[in-house]
Amino acid sequence: MSKLSIVVPCYNEEESIPLFYPAVEKVVKDMPLEVEYWFVNDGSADNTLEELRKLHEQDSERVHYVSFSRNFGKESALYAGLEATTGDYVVVMDVDLQDPPEYLPEMYQSITSGEYDCVGMRRTDRKGEAKIKSFLSDQFYNVINKISDTKIVSGARDYRMMTRQMVDAVLSLTEYNRFSKGIFNWVGFNTKYLPYKNVERVAGTTDWSTWKLFKYAFDGIYDFSETPLSIATWIGGISSFIAVIGMIFVIIRHFVEPDSSMFGWASLVCIILLIGGIQLFCLGVVGRYIGKIYMQTKNRPIYIVKEKK
Ligand code: UDP
Ligand code: MG
Repeated sequence: MSKLSIVVPCYNEEESIPLFYPAVEKVVKDMPLEVEYWFVNDGSADNTLEELRKLHEQDSERVHYVSFSRNFGKESALYAGLEATTGDYVVVMDVDLQDPPEYLPEMYQSITSGEYDCVGMRRTDRKGEAKIKSFLSDQFYNVINKISDTKIVSGARDYRMMTRQMVDAVLSLTEYNRFSKGIFNWVGFNTKYLPYKNVERVAGTTDWSTWKLFKYAFDGIYDFSETPLSIATWIGGISSFIAVIGMIFVIIRHFVEPDSSMFGWASLVCIILLIGGIQLFCLGVVGRYIGKIYMQTKNRPIYIVKEKK
């Protein structure tokens, strides 16, 4: 019998945990699977840990938890959870039931068909979410998909079931600044997305303010793209180009209209533009090297093998 590991990051979720466990149990008990839970208490300030201890006492064979010394963030919690799992398949779920357990059988069916290494869930709407948040999210996906080689599917949540092979690949990326949405795609493999309608939290409140999401979005861009570093090169190049055009203009004008009063300041503007441009351009070039060093220090694997005989 195959084993399914369920990874659940929890941060201040004392109210959600007692609702989450029975909801998932109800679904998995009908599945032909052995199940293990790996809850990660991400330095909660409430009684999350007590709730997890209670669950572990109830069902010590199957329910396990890792508890952090402080809040390290969801990304770190996911990594710790994935690292602890032993199942043939691993599913990552939020504890607030925004990732409906009802889809587990369908996900499992798709993944065991052998065609896919990963089955993810994709929201088709953003009901119950502030307009500005949805707008910013859409813009984020537009931008990152334009400037990064790693494509990120809009609306895809972290709720996904993966094969052991893919989990090991995700774990082989040991970088400190983790952006899971990007990492799941970076490692490759075949992913199928099942669409579903947005569900609101059962209890508690989200810890993600718009500002926090904004910062998270920028982290994603920095982690998966070197484009911001080349912005200086572009601006520098363009301003140098304008300067050169301006100079030609000034010189021609000097011959056509020798006593124009415009000569002095116009040539000065051109020189300032040119020097500024060259400086920015050089900064951009340095930036490119820093970008390479940055990517190298992540120590990402050079390739990931899917099959070898
Ligand atoms: N979470 C976490 N550490 C954090 C913030 C959140 O482990 O610092 C967990 C949280 O308990 C939940 C999941 O990550 O299980 C998603 O968080 P939330 O529901 O607040 O985010 P949203 O669903 O709004 O994206
Ligand atoms: Mg949530």
